Amino acid sequence: MNEWVPSLWLDIFDELLNDDNELDYGDEWTLNFNYSQTDKVTKEERKRGWRVYSHCAYGRFKCGSCSKTWPSARVVLLFRYRLRNGRGTVIMRPFGQACRRCQDDEFDLPGFVTKDAERALLRLFSRIRKNCYGEEDEDGGSSASSTKVYTKPHEKTLCEACRMGICCQDDDDD
Ligand SMILES: [Zn+2]
Ligand SMILES: [Zn+2]
Repeated sequence: MNEWVPSLWLDIFDELLNDDNELDYGDEWTLNFNYSQTDKVTKEERKRGWRVYSHCAYGRFKCGSCSKTWPSARVVLLFRYRLRNGRGTVIMRPFGQACRRCQDDEFDLPGFVTKDAERALLRLFSRIRKNCYGEEDEDGGSSASSTKVYTKPHEKTLCEACRMGICCQDDDDD
C-alpha cells in the first residue's frame, strides 16, 4: 500500500471497536479526517474535552508526479479526540512527505498495511481508555514499534511534520 486510503482506517477502526470491543464502555465512537489540523489544543478546546495523540508509524509513499515510491519509519499520525455526552470523536491527520527526486514541495500522503494501521489505532485506544475512562496505562508508555525496519535517514526538509515541528522524537541522530 503506497497510497492514502481513508477507508482502510475506517474499516479497522470499526473492527477494533465492534468486534474486539477495544472501547467497551457503551459509547459511540466515530473516526473523521482533517488534513489541516495541528497538535495545538487551546484552553477552550481542552475544557471541552479535546486531547491530542501523535503516533509514529511505518508507512509507504508514492510520488504523485513521478510515481517513485519510498518507505518511512517516521510517518506522523496526529489524532485529536474527545468523549462528550456519550459520543466519542476521533479526528485523524496523516502527515505527508515530499518526493526526493522531484523536490516539488508537494506532500504525498502515506499508505499503510493493515498491521501498522492496527498498531496505531490500538495505541490510540489505549490513550483514550486512560484519558477518557481513567484506566491505568498498561503499555508502559513506550512507543517503540516491535518491528525494526531499515529506512533511509529521515529527511527533515521533505517531511511535512518536521516542517511543522511535530515529527516523531529523534532517538538516533541529533
Ligand atoms: Zn517524484
Ligand atoms: Zn519528520
